Amino acid sequence: MTTEQILEKLIAFPVLGGDSNLTIINWIKEYIESFQIKVTLVPNEEGTKASLHCRIGPAVDGGIILSGHTDVVPVTGQAWDTDPFQLTDKGDGKLYGRGSCDMKGFIAICLHLLPTMIEAKPAKPIYFAFSYDEEIGCLSAPDLVKHIKKTYPEKPKYALIGEPSMLQPILAQKGIIVFVTQVNGSAGHSSRIKQQVSAVHEASRLVLWLETKMNTLIETNKKDARFEPPHTTIHVGQFNGGIAPNVIADKATFSWDLRTIPTDSVDAILKDFKQHCEQREVELTSVFSDFRIKTVAKHPEVVHLDTHHDKDIASLIQTISGSSNFKAVSFASEAGQFAQGGFESVICGPGSIAQAHTANEFIAKEQLQKGEAMLKKLIQEMSTSQS
Ligand SMILES: [Zn+2]
Repeated sequence: MTTEQILEKLIAFPVLGGDSNLTIINWIKEYIESFQIKVTLVPNEEGTKASLHCRIGPAVDGGIILSGHTDVVPVTGQAWDTDPFQLTDKGDGKLYGRGSCDMKGFIAICLHLLPTMIEAKPAKPIYFAFSYDEEIGCLSAPDLVKHIKKTYPEKPKYALIGEPSMLQPILAQKGIIVFVTQVNGSAGHSSRIKQQVSAVHEASRLVLWLETKMNTLIETNKKDARFEPPHTTIHVGQFNGGIAPNVIADKATFSWDLRTIPTDSVDAILKDFKQHCEQREVELTSVFSDFRIKTVAKHPEVVHLDTHHDKDIASLIQTISGSSNFKAVSFASEAGQFAQGGFESVICGPGSIAQAHTANEFIAKEQLQKGEAMLKKLIQEMSTSQS
């Protein structure tokens, strides 16, 4: 099958982050198995979702993992000109569909080149690692990484994460985590604001505290010029509380995200925030004894990626992509999780992040062709690899 034919199949599975992905993962599994390659599924506890991995080539150290996620983001509320779950060629050199760019295009290239990989009889193995629930916090990659390490007696050396980067190598990514903070205050008539504790007022102070914290980090901590912006960011994106202008709010909730450069620590920032919250609780329980502030993470931290330029993966990606213009990004991906697992990791895939998650998401056909060319070079490299 051509890359385009495979992409059409993959797009037709409307598997969102959080949904069961068994339909798409089983299709991929059967496709791979039709080439007599053994596939291992890594199911979740409930058996409703699964990642998969497989090896092409010999059981020797030094191989490379090609990583992709099978889930996509929703299309609700977006104005699409075509059916998002039917790959559409409008004749303008672009292929439209949800996930065409992020990141089923990359998976389609991997699957299309599978027979080429097998025929090449590479000296070093190539692995596929396809996950689920990436779009809701990169939830499955840590298990997948562990499973790969446990399954194969040999040690893969590299991981290439095919997130859309216009095939430019990305060696660094900020760490990302999302928190929800709930404030429990006391209800009452608005005229009694001095006798009660408004959850909205207190939550607003906490939002400003977080903004001040970010500004302090910018002023006092080392910056990282690879990133745009070159510092850690803290942002509150959702705020809910209260029922009427004349009622003191007893509940307020806000969600915020923290995007850290590699030298800043989520734990340290969270510790500071929690200490401040505890102090506010002590100060306000004299007014309202049940005053509470609770902060929980919506998902585990998606760890940062910080691959150094002198690593072998940097020269490998330079060879196959033709670019040494190493970039850094501030969006989440599984790359840091593969790096944490001990694999030299890089992000480099077809399509632009500008089209990811948007209405009328597309991938340029030229990007798919260039992506194929890049992976063909990789197959050559793995066939002659000495390292
Ligand atoms: Zn993605």
